[in-house]
Amino acid sequence: MTEKITVGSVAVDTRHWIGGERVASVDTFTDHSPIDGGVLGEISRGTALEAAAAVAAAKAAFPAWAATSRAERARVLHAVADGVEKRLEELAIVETTDNGALLRSHRRGVMPRVAHNFRFFADWLLTLEHEDFETRGHTNHVSWDPAGPCVLITPWNAPLMLATWKVAPALAAGNTVVLKPAEWSPLTASLLADIAAEAGLPAGVLNVVQGYGSEIGDALTSHPDVRRISFTGSVPTARRIAESASGNLTPLSLELGGKSPLLVFADADLDLAVDLAVEQYDNAGQVCLAATRFLVEESVAEEFTRRFVEKAGRLTQGDPRDEATDIGPTIHPRQLEKIDGFVRRALAAGARAVIGGHRKGGQYYAPTLLTDVAQDSEIVQEEVFGPVLTLQTFSTEEEAVRLANDTRFGLAATLATGDRERAERVTARLVAGTVWVNCFFVRDLQAPFGGSRHSGVGREGGTWSFDFYCDVKNTVTAPNGWKNHG
Ligand code: NAD
Repeated sequence: MTEKITVGSVAVDTRHWIGGERVASVDTFTDHSPIDGGVLGEISRGTALEAAAAVAAAKAAFPAWAATSRAERARVLHAVADGVEKRLEELAIVETTDNGALLRSHRRGVMPRVAHNFRFFADWLLTLEHEDFETRGHTNHVSWDPAGPCVLITPWNAPLMLATWKVAPALAAGNTVVLKPAEWSPLTASLLADIAAEAGLPAGVLNVVQGYGSEIGDALTSHPDVRRISFTGSVPTARRIAESASGNLTPLSLELGGKSPLLVFADADLDLAVDLAVEQYDNAGQVCLAATRFLVEESVAEEFTRRFVEKAGRLTQGDPRDEATDIGPTIHPRQLEKIDGFVRRALAAGARAVIGGHRKGGQYYAPTLLTDVAQDSEIVQEEVFGPVLTLQTFSTEEEAVRLANDTRFGLAATLATGDRERAERVTARLVAGTVWVNCFFVRDLQAPFGGSRHSGVGREGGTWSFDFYCDVKNTVTAPNGWKNHG
């Protein structure tokens, strides 16, 4: 097996990173580029063996890393951010080649955010405190103790961004980490290992293992030395992880799928509403937060649809490395098949494709909008994770809220309305971890992030991340406890 592959002009190590060393597996899996289906390379395919080695390395490195000062950890995390910024272009090209998302977004949005993930949690760590408070003269003091080795499992749709939302706070908290990126886009996690080592992160503090979830996953999530599991991915995998973690009662954070609504009221700025709607094709619709269900007030539905079709018709689909491209390919032939299956079943059930509704060659799927869909139909209830949106109408605010909340998910919701009181009324009744009003995808790391119902368990971001990645301790000291101690 070759140890390094070249992507663009960037050398990427295909082996695991365990205890500060590159480790090869006996078996490999093949990584393809979604852009043209070409083979990128053979990647080390981890098993229970590598899972055990990585957790052992994380356990061995934990005491020393946990004992470092907050200032020292913050310094190293800023050095990692410097490394990310230095290699921004390399990371962008490798990520785009590996997962097909737009190069221009990786360059200007995603990779700078990856660096920010490290800087933000480094800085937050330095200010993390809870004011002491008194109980009958006793002082309560809250502290955040590092928990131990953390297993972080991430999906393919925004590989490095989602991984570093977890890696940064877990390391800042004083924990050690085993990161397992998705098998469809493993490459930038390997580059992160290089960057972290160059930044001076001690051996074993960050470990990266690759492979299929079914082969390495259980061994990681059932391991008794693992103190936290943070997972972003699909609901079925979350169930398996929860079962696997249950033996040790390992605390879990689950960031899962969604079927989020975009509610467009007649009093909305329709141009803004259409802008928000077209944004939902971002990353070929492979975005957990995407507002895939348009719920539009009847009186403006025709005009909204007309303007949406016009604007969506101007989107350019093609090679994601091209700066002019708006929509790239889907990640994998299996994902494409899944998307097409959803649409074919919806059309067979009576849906009408206002635009799209078909493949476009290679791994590309035409941006699609479906109407005439029933609320209880599969296409309205299930996450497609592709460029497939539905449009339904409502005639009252009551009905809008009912339709919005009527799925098993609760990740996000977006409102377009010109009426502040309506926005407040509706927001209060929506089941969603994040509600955007007349905007979309604004995400501040100090805000809580997560989903309700089947969209997830727990919240991450700012102090919520430290609450999850730490053993939070309250120390109660008596008022006169010292009088006998000189
Ligand atoms: P997936 O559940 O198939 O895989 C996610 C990760 O889990 C991969 O690394 C995979 O190898 C691993 N895995 C699979 N089986 C495992 C097992 N038994 N044990 C341990 N790990 C295992 O999800 P996906 O298809 O990669 O990602 C798409 C899903 O992720 C969508 O549902 C999307 O909505 C969701 N997602 C959620 C968020 C969020 O923040 N809520 C963000 C992005 C994506």
